[in-house]
Amino acid sequence: MSFDDDLTPGLETPGSETLGLETLAIRAGHERTHEQEHAEPIFPTSSFVYGSAAEAARKFKGEEPGNVYSRFTNPTVRTFEQRLAALEGGERCVATSSGMAAILSTVLALLKAGDEVIVSRSVFGSTIALFDKYLAKFGVVPRYVELNDLAQWEAAITPNTKLLFAETPSNPLNELVDVAALAELAHRHGAWLAIDNCFLTPALQRPLDLGADLVIHSATKYLDGQGRAIGGAVVGRNEELEQLYGVVRTCGPCMSPFNAWIFLKGLETLSLRMHAHSRSAQAMAEWLESQPAIERVHYSGLESHPQHALAKRQQQGFGAVMGIEVKGGQAAAWKVIDNTRVMSITGNLGDVKTTITHPGTTTHGRLTDEQRASAGIRDGLIRIAVGLETLDDLKADLERGLRLL
Ligand SMILES: *Cc1c(COP(=O)(O)O)cnc(C)c1O
Repeated sequence: MSFDDDLTPGLETPGSETLGLETLAIRAGHERTHEQEHAEPIFPTSSFVYGSAAEAARKFKGEEPGNVYSRFTNPTVRTFEQRLAALEGGERCVATSSGMAAILSTVLALLKAGDEVIVSRSVFGSTIALFDKYLAKFGVVPRYVELNDLAQWEAAITPNTKLLFAETPSNPLNELVDVAALAELAHRHGAWLAIDNCFLTPALQRPLDLGADLVIHSATKYLDGQGRAIGGAVVGRNEELEQLYGVVRTCGPCMSPFNAWIFLKGLETLSLRMHAHSRSAQAMAEWLESQPAIERVHYSGLESHPQHALAKRQQQGFGAVMGIEVKGGQAAAWKVIDNTRVMSITGNLGDVKTTITHPGTTTHGRLTDEQRASAGIRDGLIRIAVGLETLDDLKADLERGLRLL
């Protein structure tokens, strides 16, 4: 089988011969039923029946594998889990009802009162709220550091540190952390490293290969890629994932089979989409960098990005999301946003539809001026998640506002 040369080469996955990422994204995890269906079936059933009382007893005790109840055993969800595990190169995956449920389940599974978690300051806003507002109530202590400053991570470690948590690249400034170096640091202190890989997906970055212990996903974003459903997942080793499975099984933040099926369909085109997003974003970033009304473009694919070399080393692409700073502060940024006709003005991303937002007054609007300044969210900053529309239409969309500045 041959693929475009910019697609990812063959990958080793446990228990299978070497298959390419695109092959796994299309075929991993599906065992045909006796109906010989070609597309993956949806199993919209809450429970399953047994041939005998003895079989039911064995399955309840876990002595015999098989489906029991869809909170913890559903064939469509399992197909999604096995496929994503294969793509990330993990031993096992547990699917969850949302990306936030994936993070919550990870903490419930692995941490207890008194444990500390070090979190990059530039993670998804709800992730910070989850730690500060809810998990802190149960005695899990978060400490925040700058994503790209390894010395700060190291200084924040105490004997109680159990987990390091980061998103790379960051939203919207595209700051990176060296995942291999952070994993080495975590392991030297007996802690786990979890990477939220939502922005690049395994098509463009495989954190487990770089030494991370856990990969967290909001499947809502690029795994679906078409803005249709909410879901999440955690991928890693059997040992930790068995504990996560216990949490999802008992506490119940499970993925619905309908959503699992949507994500399976999304995964089939994941590599194609992510490389196409990256190509468009790269061309857009280079073009924007040459525009007189633009002060700065934050995109890890640009030579001007301070961590471009690291991005090239640990990523197979640069993704769809960029931050652009226009001259003239908030008024100018709003003018650019309000003059778009094709792009969607929304705080969401991870879609074939291009989205544009003003982080300072939306996604980061609840921060104090000081917090915003320290996070580098300036008044003229616009975030664009470049979709798959015709690139010239997207450029024209921005040019309409940029001309007026
Ligand atoms: C959206 C998002 C989440 C949360 O995922 P939901 O599916 O919305 O719960 C977590 N991390 C990142 C980076 C996200 O963009």
